[in-house]
Amino acid sequence: MNYGRDIERILISEAEIAKRVAELGEQISRDYAGRDIMLIAVLKGAYMFTADLIRKIEGDVSVDFISIRSYNGTTTSGEVHLLQDLKAPVYGKNILLVEDIIDSGITLSYLKNMLLARKPGSFKIACLLDKADRRQVPQVIDYAGFTIPNEFVVGYGMDYNEKYRNLPDICVLAPSEYQGDKA
Ligand code: 5GP
Repeated sequence: MNYGRDIERILISEAEIAKRVAELGEQISRDYAGRDIMLIAVLKGAYMFTADLIRKIEGDVSVDFISIRSYNGTTTSGEVHLLQDLKAPVYGKNILLVEDIIDSGITLSYLKNMLLARKPGSFKIACLLDKADRRQVPQVIDYAGFTIPNEFVVGYGMDYNEKYRNLPDICVLAPSEYQGDKA
């Protein structure tokens, strides 16, 4: 795919993503062998990662979706709002929460507290991208795809103001695109 000037560079290519997602799927299949998994995809950013990951997991897997909002443009608001809750109960299930990016860790701690209160049988976290240097709330991530620097990325399901989710690679957005927005 040809990118315009709004994309600074490709950070992680489509092929690298596919390879890493397959590795994560194999690892998850081994770890959960013989046990059911309920994947919880955090919308919207994690929908593409979840769609690819679930096809690399062997065994009985169900999926449900939760929708939250914590970002405006490239800036985290520090407040997390639940837009749409799960349809299925979590009680007693082996939950694997699937996130696109862990940045400050604020969103994850909100989701973790909410879901642990519903008493799952087990609870683990998979995230595609980890901005480890940015952490404000320490987090243990069970399955992490890539550690990335503090740059605003789009593509592979991740957006800037609802654009760029369709890019097959994970790309760094040109800072000129969000000038005036506090990064
Ligand atoms: P946290 O609460 O950990 O600071 O933020 C996590 C959420 O912020 C992610 O799930 C994602 O929605 C959003 N986010 C953080 N960094 C980026 C980024 O570089 N690009 C995009 N598109 N979203 C980001």
